[in-house]
Amino acid sequence: MTDEEPGKLEALRQEVRAWLKENLPEGWGSPGYVAPERGSKEAHDLGKAWQKKVYDAGYTGFGIPTEYGGIERSRAEVAVIRDEMQRTGTPPPAGSLGPMIVIPTLLRYGNEEQKKRFIPKILSAEESWCECFSEPDAGSDLANIQKTGVRDGDEWVVNGQSVWTSGSKFADWGVVPVKTDPNAPRHRNLSYFVFDCTSPGFEVRPLKQMTGDAEFSETFFDNVRIPHANMIGEEGQGWYVAMATLEAERGGGIQFVAPSRRIEPTTLGGVDIYVELAKNTKRRGKTVWDDPIFRQRIAQFAIENEAMRHSRERMRVKAIKRQLTGNEQSIGSIFSREKNQRQANMVAEIMGANIQFMRGDPRALDDGSWTYTFLRTRGNTIETGTTEVLRGIIAERMLGLPRSRQ
Ligand SMILES: Cc1cc2nc3c(=O)[nH]c(=O)nc-3n(C[C@H](O)[C@H](O)[C@H](O)COP(=O)(O)OP(=O)(O)OC[C@H]3O[C@@H](n4cnc5c(N)ncnc54)[C@H](O)[C@@H]3O)c2cc1C
Repeated sequence: MTDEEPGKLEALRQEVRAWLKENLPEGWGSPGYVAPERGSKEAHDLGKAWQKKVYDAGYTGFGIPTEYGGIERSRAEVAVIRDEMQRTGTPPPAGSLGPMIVIPTLLRYGNEEQKKRFIPKILSAEESWCECFSEPDAGSDLANIQKTGVRDGDEWVVNGQSVWTSGSKFADWGVVPVKTDPNAPRHRNLSYFVFDCTSPGFEVRPLKQMTGDAEFSETFFDNVRIPHANMIGEEGQGWYVAMATLEAERGGGIQFVAPSRRIEPTTLGGVDIYVELAKNTKRRGKTVWDDPIFRQRIAQFAIENEAMRHSRERMRVKAIKRQLTGNEQSIGSIFSREKNQRQANMVAEIMGANIQFMRGDPRALDDGSWTYTFLRTRGNTIETGTTEVLRGIIAERMLGLPRSRQ
């Protein structure tokens, strides 16, 4: 199918629309629908089951070679599918880390056997993943990783600790860079592994965040045995493999993330929810919408969201053509993460004291979802590398400015 066949594209649109009607969870989108608690096993399982259905129907897995389970579609077809999914709004997929970071890493550094073993099950969501990178003393300074791996026959025995390991509560597999040569210089002393999270000695201790969720955990490796066959790339090449993972993460897995959730706003500027909130919130007898300052702020977000949407689309096309660098993706990443926080701050100003009521409190507006978003966005400028560190990357690697001294 080519971009020049609008009749076929329209038929695809109708097909996807009918498929969604048939396959969305019962009651989905209706006012009475009660979604499983965010972060719960039920929510995870729902996301997994949904992602599998989407994959089986041929509506995700684009841009990935078919020999690894990818699905071939033209850009126009992908756009139609994405559009219909976003228009309807669908369950969030379980564990986005697999498609976002593991697939790009495997495509770049994995061997044939590894790519064939792992990629199809990521696409079908049969296996979900976690990323054991950050340690108590290795966050921004990732090269300071202290986990050790000692070779024992066909296996490596791994010891150490990670922290902030998102999604590890329900993950089947993980990625982990490990110091395998304590005598080699920084950047050449690490090797990169995929490991089975059910391995004896791997322990997950959930950490509760201020949102009330335990989205991430501390994870411990106590003599965890990882087969040598699970090493991605060469021994000692782990730093470079880890950088490929981080590049993919900072770009939000732009080329591979399934179009099964609202990635972009569907209405112009995507600010309708703020308009509605401002119209429904009263202060001293007037609605917040009557205040021209708030109206201007909302309009400004509409402009920024549209700019982001076009910029993302441009990056997506560049990514498909393999012309996108991780450094370039840092620009959009900083902007959108800081924008999320600014939007949440504006909502808090609109809501006033009501923003303090959390989920479960009968006084909370929309069952505390605004409050949840306000609190969750605080982590946006930290996760996937802090915005300070990303600014350093732009300064050094794109603008050629001198390296900062610490
Ligand atoms: C919601 C969330 C989810 C996460 N999920 C995961 C996950 O799944 N897996 C995982 O491995 N990690 C995860 N992380 C961890 C995250 O990657 C780290 O928190 C982040 O890289 C910062 O590391 P750190 O916390 O050790 O802070 P530090 O590195 O100690 O930084 C402390 C402060 O110093 C600043 N700083 C440090 N170095 C520089 C520099 N060179 N230039 C300028 N400023 C600097 C930082 O910007 C920061 O403000 C997650 C974090 C959050 C918040």
